[in-house]
Amino acid sequence: MALDSYKHTPPLNLERKFPENMTSAMSLLYKAKRGEKGNVVGKRYAVPAFNVTTFQSINAAFTAFEMLGSSGLLAFSNSALKHFGRGEAIFGLEIVSDYIAKMASRTKIQVATHLDHGDYITEKGRKVVQAAISCLSSVMADNSTDHVNQTHTDLADNIGLTREVVNIAHPLGVSVEGELGVLAGEEDEDTHSEISTYTNPQELERFLRETGVLMLAPTIGTMHGPNKGKPGSKVKLQIDLAHTLLKIANSIDERICFVIHGASTLYQEVTSYALSSLRKFESAEASVKKWEEFVGTDWEQIVDIVQAGFCKINTDTENRQTFLAKLLGTVIKDPAKIDIRFYDISCTEGLTQSYLRKLIMAGNYGVWYEPKIDVEDFRFDLAKPLQELTSAV
Ligand SMILES: [Zn+2]
Repeated sequence: MALDSYKHTPPLNLERKFPENMTSAMSLLYKAKRGEKGNVVGKRYAVPAFNVTTFQSINAAFTAFEMLGSSGLLAFSNSALKHFGRGEAIFGLEIVSDYIAKMASRTKIQVATHLDHGDYITEKGRKVVQAAISCLSSVMADNSTDHVNQTHTDLADNIGLTREVVNIAHPLGVSVEGELGVLAGEEDEDTHSEISTYTNPQELERFLRETGVLMLAPTIGTMHGPNKGKPGSKVKLQIDLAHTLLKIANSIDERICFVIHGASTLYQEVTSYALSSLRKFESAEASVKKWEEFVGTDWEQIVDIVQAGFCKINTDTENRQTFLAKLLGTVIKDPAKIDIRFYDISCTEGLTQSYLRKLIMAGNYGVWYEPKIDVEDFRFDLAKPLQELTSAV
């Protein structure tokens, strides 16, 4: 496949006007990479991409962003879009983009919407990516793995397909995330892989130059899903490789932002809270064992690579775990409460706590205005209502 050089790839159109308070993911990430909050440039921080799957999770994320004055990034997988669209991903895109534009119009933060693991390999996937380019402000072109046939694509094919996405998205101001290397684990029913390969530095240079993407997910040792290794073990990230790859990217274009997939940590408080509820159920041994075997990514290693310049961290599993733990605790608290809102409010608050915690861990607060709560004083406790955990400043 003959490819033009990098200089012929369309640059990201930074003049594009999105709905009020909305912007491309790239603009939020580059701000984080420069450590920019308000008019001050300080320590680098990261923007967590929350994989939202229900209106409840969108609402919880907005509450957390607004409490902290954070840059907001909401990501949608193909299966989440099908859920929103009653079985149709493209209808789901139309629904969520309208809903989020309405929500964003009432905030004072900036929000981006992102298609996670867009598939530009299959005919069906291409239609979703093209619709996402017109509905969202950022898309991932995951062309390194053919998820239908479970194969690793050739570098030239990955470059060619990603470049096609850049050609349509960049002129519209929609940022594109490429993927190089294969990440193992199961993200959801549409995205899973048995194999894992690290990103090759020589391939990275060629990929970045020939596609023109400004966001890139390299593979440096994280995994998708709730079981990132044997129970009790630690995920080992390839920190030296991460630094080598960053150096190459920065020499091509210092705006290039790296993304960590499979960055979910494990919240011990969530596991303890879930286990205390589960033990009240009869015959819950198998579920107790599953909870005890969850292995997350070691946060200390993520902090290191955020400081080195990775600025988007994809997290989902710990939010799903928090939701389930809070649901278990809510049911145990009052199993005869016949009021859907009781469970909805309780679980939304649980999710908000999970998002607050990750935003604070990532340093993504006080970006658009000073946080409305005392960040140092935030305590994560699913047994308590949100307002008791957050003292206002
Ligand atoms: Zn992923």
